[in-house]
Amino acid sequence: MLTTLRRIVLEFSQDAELDSALLRLVAQIKTALKTDCCSVYLADYQKQHFLLMASDGLAVGAHGHTSIGFSEGLIGLVGQREEPINIANAQHHPHFIHAPEVQEDELNAFLGTPIIHHRKVLGILSIQQKESRSFTENEEAFLVTLSAQLATALANAEARGILLRGDDSSQGARQLKGISGSSGVAIGRMVTVQPKVSLASVSLQKASNTTEQLQHFTQAIEITRAEFEQMRVKLNDIINDSSLDIFEMYKQLLNNANIGHEVEDKIRQGWSAASSLKIVIDNYLLRFEALDDHYLRERVSDIRDLGNRLLINLLQQDNKQKDIKKNEDFILVAEDVTASMLAEYQHQGLKSIISMSGSNNSHAAILARALGLPAIMGLDHIPLGQLDQQIAIVDGYSGELFIAPNEALIREYQHLIAEEDALTDKVKQVANLPTITPDGRPIELVLNAGLSAGLEHSKSVGAVGVGLYRTEIPFMNRSCFPSEQEQTALYQNVLAAFPKKTVTMRTLDVGGDKSLPYFPIVEDNPFLGWRGIRITLDHPEIFLLQVRAMIRANIGHNNLEIMLPMISDISEVNEAVRLINQAYYELSAEICDEGQSKLTRPKIGMMIEVPGVIFQLGDFADKVDFFSVGSNDLTQYLLAVDRNNVQVADLYDSYHPAVLRALNIIAEESSKYLVPLSLCGELASEPAGALLLLAMGYDKLSMNAYNIARIKWVIRHVSLQKSKVILAKALSFTTAKQVHSYLNEQLELLGLGSFVRAGM
Ligand code: PEP
Ligand code: MG
Repeated sequence: MLTTLRRIVLEFSQDAELDSALLRLVAQIKTALKTDCCSVYLADYQKQHFLLMASDGLAVGAHGHTSIGFSEGLIGLVGQREEPINIANAQHHPHFIHAPEVQEDELNAFLGTPIIHHRKVLGILSIQQKESRSFTENEEAFLVTLSAQLATALANAEARGILLRGDDSSQGARQLKGISGSSGVAIGRMVTVQPKVSLASVSLQKASNTTEQLQHFTQAIEITRAEFEQMRVKLNDIINDSSLDIFEMYKQLLNNANIGHEVEDKIRQGWSAASSLKIVIDNYLLRFEALDDHYLRERVSDIRDLGNRLLINLLQQDNKQKDIKKNEDFILVAEDVTASMLAEYQHQGLKSIISMSGSNNSHAAILARALGLPAIMGLDHIPLGQLDQQIAIVDGYSGELFIAPNEALIREYQHLIAEEDALTDKVKQVANLPTITPDGRPIELVLNAGLSAGLEHSKSVGAVGVGLYRTEIPFMNRSCFPSEQEQTALYQNVLAAFPKKTVTMRTLDVGGDKSLPYFPIVEDNPFLGWRGIRITLDHPEIFLLQVRAMIRANIGHNNLEIMLPMISDISEVNEAVRLINQAYYELSAEICDEGQSKLTRPKIGMMIEVPGVIFQLGDFADKVDFFSVGSNDLTQYLLAVDRNNVQVADLYDSYHPAVLRALNIIAEESSKYLVPLSLCGELASEPAGALLLLAMGYDKLSMNAYNIARIKWVIRHVSLQKSKVILAKALSFTTAKQVHSYLNEQLELLGLGSFVRAGM
């Protein structure tokens, strides 16, 4: 049954045409469940009805014509109740509506299940039978499981439909909705980049240039075959047993009689080469997974590997033709936008980013905010190829993407861009003034940095130091760990850019959603796993190299502080401090031999990101020189919401009462133990967040360069006394929604409404 179910869903998602996919779907379900009729209705929220899209059993003439209101009939009842309804004799049910055109007079038994995606009813799947009987538990379970799996495929098909249909809206463009990753508006051409290639992320699409697609595929096969031959020859010297037969099997599968031939057939049917490869490999995987033979079942991963390898070579053929036009404004689109992509393209007309995966607090979004680039995240399941080279408007406030907009819509958005520029000019006026409230409370605004370009920018926006230098970012765009000398040179640049101002460098914080290409970490639960300090303490050679480079770079600058990420246990601080001391004493001895001036031992601080730490602040206070709250991670761990997962993005909220109360406790405790405190999460860069933190007693806020002048402007316009009144009320609420509506209202009253509308 499981195989049948998977095949039905797979074949549904592989069809480019929704109508034919639905027709095949109902026929397959009818056969699998041996019933007399299966139908599918889709919801139309504008017209408030379900439309009969396909049926195997009801009159063909009714397909695409018969509709049932959301509150009408049995179909309406399934939609309203959002649960399956199983009735032995539907004709006697009080909700039954007689619709002669569907010709269901002989059908008595009825089972309907809703197809629900993200709490929204997309449609209803129903089966009917002449015999008057209740459907069995197994039949019901099958239909419910199928509906749940179909929901995602159907939502994807709908999104694909929007792209294929063309301009169908009164908005003057095709419109897609994601999550806002960074506010602002951009207009430009979309350019897709696909570094992370795996068949799982390929979205099916048709291609008109069949001959070219065939050529690309043939070249990819040749390259892949040559690669296998090279690997076999290389390994032949080391291994001399039957394990090398795998390469023969790969080569055979590539031959025309097998996978190669089937892929070419699909290309001739009009699919792109990558889509054809995906369809064929998926079908092979399904067949192999269903086999009883253990050995053959194990070959599934070999076939997947072969498919992915072919895909890489195929996409390299495509990419050869793609380059970004010089000086043209463009919108970067990728499955998963990475920090290294931003670093690579930021000087080349990059105006905005669209990341299919990730959410508001993933690192790609944080970096986009740092660069002041509007961003949309989580536009899941949209075929990248269909976006490529199209003109679009990115609305980073709402998370909306308008594809091929008309002139009127472009003018409207150009107007918005002009308003934003005016706000930026206004706040620039305070960039070089002190950050102090009208009633005299000074606050230090420091910079979150990591991309070198951000440093230059920061000087013009009035940062008084660096509160968080994310060292992992320069580690990312490379093929191996940087050497001690390379790191020293890098850190020297940063320290020199802020003479006499403190620069807080965080030790390598990889894991979670930050990976290094040359140090892969595969875990089921990466955010709860091997992350941050846990990795570097397990690899003292990496940690020591880094802190040695930092301490050496500090010679002549003396403005370095070292910060430890993801601390959850006292022993981690003890061990890290021991290693830093070791590096310091070793270097002192070396430097004495070199005749250089004396080293300074940097202050050592820790991040508060793990909730458990809050209950031990007194113990940690004796061990470190300062605390810095990482509110991005603290929020995800306090609320148990993956900051990267778009499915639960609505639950991730740093204004949740639990988070605000925790931040308040941290401020009270730090003050009690006399430990200097700062906050370097995204909350500090939002006007409401900054006001609450100011009132709690945080006197150092670290944020991206782009927001420093804006937050300075806000702080210079709101008194400490007023912010304390706002905080007291905000802490009294029980839901995040109440907190938000109260804070928005207060910001409007304070004349800061335009900052809120500007998505800050
Ligand atoms: C944080 O978690 O708030 C933080 C500043 O660190 P990062 O976002 O780099 O994890
Ligand atoms: Mg963090």
